[in-house]
Amino acid sequence: MTVAPVNLNRVISVLLGVALLVFQSEAAFAWGNEGHIYVNRVAAQKIPTEMPRFLRRAVAEIVYLGPEPDRWRNPAEFALKNAQEPDHFIDLERVSWLDPLPHGRYDFYRELAEHRAATTDRPDDYLPERVGLQPYITMEVYGRLKAGFREYRQRLALHQSTQAVREAIIFYAAWLGHYVADGSQPLHTTIHYNGWVGPNPNGYVTHGGIHAEFETAYVSRNIAASDFANLVRTPEHIADPFGSYVQYLRASNALVENVYQLDKAGGFRDAGSREAFDFTTQRLATGSQMLVNLWYTAWLDSAE
Ligand SMILES: [Zn+2]
Ligand SMILES: [Zn+2]
Repeated sequence: MTVAPVNLNRVISVLLGVALLVFQSEAAFAWGNEGHIYVNRVAAQKIPTEMPRFLRRAVAEIVYLGPEPDRWRNPAEFALKNAQEPDHFIDLERVSWLDPLPHGRYDFYRELAEHRAATTDRPDDYLPERVGLQPYITMEVYGRLKAGFREYRQRLALHQSTQAVREAIIFYAAWLGHYVADGSQPLHTTIHYNGWVGPNPNGYVTHGGIHAEFETAYVSRNIAASDFANLVRTPEHIADPFGSYVQYLRASNALVENVYQLDKAGGFRDAGSREAFDFTTQRLATGSQMLVNLWYTAWLDSAE
């Protein structure tokens, strides 16, 4: 009897693949995989019965697609990676002079360009890709979802097939979930995204690592979707989606220092602290709540 020889090249390529995966998940700039899965899962579980049944039954697809935009960061697809990375964050401190934010992405670009032209101190900090485009991509995907619901209603009324539009709606709803979840992570709304910058009287950590430590390592070790599902209520209609979403980002930004305080107290280390658990589950629940509210609003407003 002969034993098949171990193919060393194959073993090496598998090990390299694992190393690459580990590296990429460390480098990911979003709630880790688990955070995105949890936010989408809990929101999907809270879809009310007055919304279409196909969406309520699409929990597995909505969960799978939660981390989808993080799959678009591979250097192998350079144009995609380059174009979409600013979608995951907004450094609100850089646009403190711009309130309210304009509704359209190109109006935002124009405001930034004028500010940059009038600035001598680090003008490139006002490039759109440095500031981040969080509320714009979120409202654009929200618009796609609402348009999809409108098409679905029309096809139903005309007794046409809805198979394709149902698939599109599931994708838009889940894709939207990614950005809404990013917005609930305070470090996605700030210049202090991965280490405190500038004056630091409280001695917060300044080197990188806090970002992934909090959103990826701590969450995957210590949090489950069931830990915050009971904090998410029946959805409510939002009268002003853009304005409410910007408020949601500002509320997240107001908690940036809390993340650094928890980190300084060792709250995210190993099993973490009770305070870190409460803070993180509240943040994830706030994300799921905003997401199901936006789904519900898109559905209701698509009837108009
Ligand atoms: Zn993201
Ligand atoms: Zn992140």
